[in-house]
Parts: sequence; structure tokens; C-alpha cells
Amino acid sequence: MSYKQKNFTVALMNNYLVILEGDESLNPNSQGLIASLANFKPGIFHALVLGSNAQKICESALTNSVFSSVFYNNDERLNFYPCKPVAEAVKKLDEKYDYQVIIAAGSSVGKEILPYIGGKLGVSVISDVVGINSDWVYTRPVFAGSMLAEVAPVTTKHCVGVRSSAFSEQTLPTFATNFEQIEFDVFLNVKFERVSLSPKGRPQLGDSQVVVSGGRAVGSKENFENLMFPLADKLAASVGATRAAVDAGYAPNDWQVGQTGKVVAPNLYIACGISGAIQHIAGMKDSKCIVAINKDKSAPIFEIADFGLVADIFEAVPELVEKLG
Ligand code: FAD
Repeated sequence: MSYKQKNFTVALMNNYLVILEGDESLNPNSQGLIASLANFKPGIFHALVLGSNAQKICESALTNSVFSSVFYNNDERLNFYPCKPVAEAVKKLDEKYDYQVIIAAGSSVGKEILPYIGGKLGVSVISDVVGINSDWVYTRPVFAGSMLAEVAPVTTKHCVGVRSSAFSEQTLPTFATNFEQIEFDVFLNVKFERVSLSPKGRPQLGDSQVVVSGGRAVGSKENFENLMFPLADKLAASVGATRAAVDAGYAPNDWQVGQTGKVVAPNLYIACGISGAIQHIAGMKDSKCIVAINKDKSAPIFEIADFGLVADIFEAVPELVEKLG
């Protein structure tokens, strides 16, 4: 195929497959992901939704949406988007629709399945995308968020992991969405024995507009429960932690915020006893309002905080909880 022919074909083929997630309803990461679609070149958008409530999510959130077709399967074995069956399903859909871009949120699911899908299809994968430019060039942070790089895939067909919090809602064209149940003949080669979720009532990290995070200074798992949980509960916040707190066993792995943890951008982020290492900041610096409580007035976290309180967390946090009533 000549270069000219190749370009011509590409111009006609902006088909996208968007992998959406949700438990009872579409989760905030997926809602942000949909907001990002306005930045892609115009084209035909398909979606894939899996898990026990897939059909319910489709009907409640995706009827008359930007998606002309939504593929779903309600099998509970697909609740956590296991790589192998999902990649097989995407491959089958791709054989039929020849997608230009396969898109997922930069969530735990997206981070796990996109490299697998990329490997299966033999195409480039670009993760942590915060900007979508012309001609398939994407902006993503590098060096723990201290620089932004513009990167392009080396294959025409490619996968993109979008950092949903970087995109604000935009009006998108809507279609009379067609829903189609798809069959899976490949299933898990592993079985989930147990899944521990945050206690009911406290939102998952990434699902809430307020995050209360604790660092090494919190000192123990019990202190996390006694000091951080009451503050989180007052604010309907999710709880985050630094890697130092996670490594010390004060908080579970999936609470880690930062370069090697989750990236969050809530309306309010309260950092308690956190120094502000660059690797932590990479995961929360886009929060709309950052409040830091640290007893060391020269702690680097104060450089990015909107409000700083030089205080001992063991005094300031209970006082804050009391004042919140
Ligand atoms: P510290 O740096 O020890 O800071 C504790 C802070 O608490 C200090 O500022 C101190 O003044 C304050 N303090 C102490 N007692 C009190 C008190 N009673 N009241 C108030 N303040 C008090 N880190 C992450 O968080 N997320 C990541 O994803 C991550 N990824 C990493 C990846 C790599 C490759 C590497 C090398 C490191 C990574 N880290 C990550 C670790 C990071 O470099 C820091 O070590 C870590 O963030 C420090 O956590 P901390 O702020 O809890 O602890």
C-alpha cells in the first residue's frame, strides 16, 4: 500500500472502541473518559461494558449517547475485566470493525488490560494521556509529572489510556445507541477467591471529590483508623496514603497515591503528615484545592498547597473533626 493510499484509508477509518467500567452505574473514571472523547478526531465510537450489571449500566447511562454501538456481557466472571477474555473479545470486535484507537481510562483496569490488548494486537500503547493533539499525537507526563512529553504511536492502530481527571465535560453528538450482547468463549485462567473493597459508605479512591491522605507520620494502622477515618467520614472522602505509609503496613496498597500508585484530582485533597516527595505529588498535584498539615514548616508539600497548617496532625486532625460537627 502506498503512503498516499494508506493515509487515505486512515482518514476514512476513525473507528474507536472505548472500554467503560462501572459497578452499579458508570464509574467517575469512565464518565471522565467519555468527556475526553470530544478531543479525538471525529469518528464512530463503540463501547464495551462488562460485568454483572453491564446491561443495567448500558440502559441507564448509554442510551442515546456518543456511542453508536455498545457491546456488553453480564457474566460476573467479567466483573474485574480479566485480561485474557477481554483481549480476546476486543480482538474479535477489531477483526470486524477495524478500530483505529482502543481507549480505556487510566484506572487499575485500564492500566492492566491495555498493555495486554496492545500485545495481543501487536500495536502501540500510550498511557496516562492528559492531552489529545492532532495527527495522533498525545501529551503525557514524564519524570513523575515534572515534564510533559508529546508522544506518537508507532503503529497506526493503537491503544490509549486516558487520565480522566484531565478532561472536563464537553457536549458530544449523540446517537440512537444500539446494544449488542457479545459471547465469550475464553474465560478466566485464574479464579478470584476474595475481593476486599473499602468499607461500605466510604468511597473508593478516585470515586470521590474529597481525598484525605495520611503519610508515615500517622504512625500505625490503628492511627489511620482512629485519626484519618473520622475525618474522611465527616467529609464523605476516600482515604489515600503515601508509599511510606503503605510500605509500613499502615494502609493497603490500593490506597497509595503517587507515581507508582493512583493518580487523583479531587476538588479537595487533605495531606496529613506527608512531606511532599515528587513521587507523591505526581499523583495528586492536579487536585483543585490542596490542604497540607505538617509540623515542619519547610516541608515541600507546602510549596504546592493552597492552604497550609503547620501543626501536629494528632492535635489538628481531631480538632478539625470536632469543628466539622
Ligand atoms: P516522609 O517523607 O517521611 O514524611 C513524613 C512527613 O510527616 C514529614 O514531612 C514530617 O515533617 C511530617 N510529620 C512527622 N510527624 C508529624 C506530626 N506528628 N504531625 C504533622 N506532621 C508530621 N511515594 C508515594 O507517596 N507514592 C508513590 O507512588 C511513590 N512512588 C515512588 C516511586 C519510586 C521509584 C520511588 C523511589 C519512591 C516513590 N515514593 C512514592 C516514595 C517517596 O519518594 C517518599 O518516600 C514518600 O512519598 C514519603 O512518604 P511520607 O511523606 O509519608 O513520609
